[in-house]
Amino acid sequence: MTAFKAPLRDMRFAMHEVLNTTAHYQNLGRDDLTAEIIDAVLEEGAKFNEGVVAPLNRSGDEEGIVFKNGEIKTPEGFIDAYQQFCDNGWASMTGSEDFGGQGLPLSLAAPFHEMMMAANLSFRVYSGLTEGAVLALTKHGSDELKTGYLPKLISGEWAGTMCLTEPHAGTDLALLRTKAEPQADGSYAVSGTKIFISGGEQDMSSNIVHLVLARLPDAPAGVKGISLFLVPKFLPDTNGDPGERNPAVCGSVEHKMGIKAAATCVMNFDNAKGWLIGQENRGLACMFTMMNDARFQVGLQGLGIAEMAYQGAVEYALDRLQSRSLSGPKNPDKVADPIIVHPDVRRMLLTQKTLVEGCRLLAYEAAQALDNEEHHPDSDVRKTAGVRAALLIPVVKSFLTDMSAEAANLGMQVYGGHGFIREWGMEQLVRDGRITQIYEGTNGIQALDLLRRKVMGDQGLELARLQDEIDAFCEANDLSEGLRSTIASLNSVNAHWRKLAKDIIARGTENPEDIGGCATDFLSFSSYALLAYGWARMAVVAKQKLEEGAGDSDFYNAKIASARFYIERILPRAEMHRQVLETPVDTLFGLTAEQFVRT
Ligand SMILES: Cc1cc2nc3c(=O)[nH]c(=O)nc-3n(C[C@H](O)[C@H](O)[C@H](O)COP(=O)(O)OP(=O)(O)OC[C@H]3O[C@@H](n4cnc5c(N)ncnc54)[C@H](O)[C@@H]3O)c2cc1C
Repeated sequence: MTAFKAPLRDMRFAMHEVLNTTAHYQNLGRDDLTAEIIDAVLEEGAKFNEGVVAPLNRSGDEEGIVFKNGEIKTPEGFIDAYQQFCDNGWASMTGSEDFGGQGLPLSLAAPFHEMMMAANLSFRVYSGLTEGAVLALTKHGSDELKTGYLPKLISGEWAGTMCLTEPHAGTDLALLRTKAEPQADGSYAVSGTKIFISGGEQDMSSNIVHLVLARLPDAPAGVKGISLFLVPKFLPDTNGDPGERNPAVCGSVEHKMGIKAAATCVMNFDNAKGWLIGQENRGLACMFTMMNDARFQVGLQGLGIAEMAYQGAVEYALDRLQSRSLSGPKNPDKVADPIIVHPDVRRMLLTQKTLVEGCRLLAYEAAQALDNEEHHPDSDVRKTAGVRAALLIPVVKSFLTDMSAEAANLGMQVYGGHGFIREWGMEQLVRDGRITQIYEGTNGIQALDLLRRKVMGDQGLELARLQDEIDAFCEANDLSEGLRSTIASLNSVNAHWRKLAKDIIARGTENPEDIGGCATDFLSFSSYALLAYGWARMAVVAKQKLEEGAGDSDFYNAKIASARFYIERILPRAEMHRQVLETPVDTLFGLTAEQFVRT
């Protein structure tokens, strides 16, 4: 089984050489975050994830969690690794300095999180939602709640959960029924059942703080009647330490296809004491603060799984000897050539590599937009960055996770039959990664979010701004020797993208079914176009570095060759989506519901 190795060279390339991260931090007033500091964070993060987190991935999957009498035992080693995660300050990276956090920009934490997700997705699930809870509480909580809960959540001593889903209410939160009755002391009695709650119960933190969506007695129906409550597992005592047990209890756990070391709980709230976060009936807006972060994080989960699948596939393809190269033996002293000589194996590896590296750049760029939205000193920049981040997040969530499923399956395929066998680790990646396409809003819902809310919501304005940037890039680089066809392809896909967006906005305004019928193909088209922009920029930087004689020519030449592969062999997929988008959606309604049923 391949041991995880943090892809530091590629991370540094994306951060320093393409996205100019130090200049970005200077714009945020963070001159202290120098290239040396960034590299030190990456290197220490790599050591922790390679040495502590990754070794628990396989054993965690084998062992799973144990549920007994409402309590959960996480796999051997998880408690200790979590303690190290907190003690070494990894938990508090992005938390506000006012409450003991380090106040670091998300874009510096993101590569660390990506490593953790590649190393052990189940382990990361436990801490991931705490960061979202911290965000929601920081932005919407009362001073009392902030003082009482944020320091312990930020340090990781306490963990957070996100309790939205109910048996009859998944995508459609308007249907949720959990109730919150106001009490004389200003608290609320929360009652109801939530399902699929990640980390709803565990033995790694001394308290668990549930953020629960519920309805007040007189709340209007639908999403306008949902409020957000903080419901701790243990009520803090007078010293702020875990005291009386609150009736917020894990009733059972789900038996899942993957992330078996992560507890997914049915949570029963039986008049559990809670406190309102934000305003009454404005819970969904508060939850959205958390969901944006969570959706970005799930995109990173996909990236991590895909990176790991690529690393395993490369190692195996170099090692496995089968058949001879079509152009004659490359390994004449051995019984056969390594399978990496075969064009079809190279197709699989290059598909994984170009998707992973393109998606990494896209994710880090989205993280910079989120940094600007949160930390930039200029309020206009904060506002425009927020709009850009909102546009990119559904793409990051869904494309990175769809890409992850493809990369993990290709990884399994490179291993042949051994890919299907547990000991090689590929089947775990396929199983673990699959959930990322489903939770935090299915990828179909992300596609609707992109098209309906983000593109149609502003009549395509922000998308057009992005497309203008791509045009300007093409214009500035179209004479780039050796990259002309790359730039021409980007130019062409961008022009198609503009036209498609315009046409679909017009069609969708006329017929709402067109939005639903086009959303997924539009998201796919947009994603391939965005990756083309990323690959063109990576190729331009690599070429400049070679011309400057910066050294590391293997790395830069590989980048340029990979860009060509992406443009010539992956980007044509966008054309297929374009053709689909240009056809009417009425075929989706050619059958009655009954006609789907076999007779
Ligand atoms: C392992 C795991 C962990 C989870 N962790 C959490 C957690 O911590 N907290 C939490 O609250 N939830 C959690 N969830 C729940 C998860 O977010 C939901 O499962 C997910 O949002 C989908 O909801 P659903 O399962 O009810 O599917 P449904 O909403 O029933 O959807 C079924 C299908 O219909 C489609 N669909 C539904 N509505 C529409 C529409 N309007 N337009 C187009 N298509 C539509 C969906 O895309 C999907 O394909 C978790 C789930 C799992 C499996």
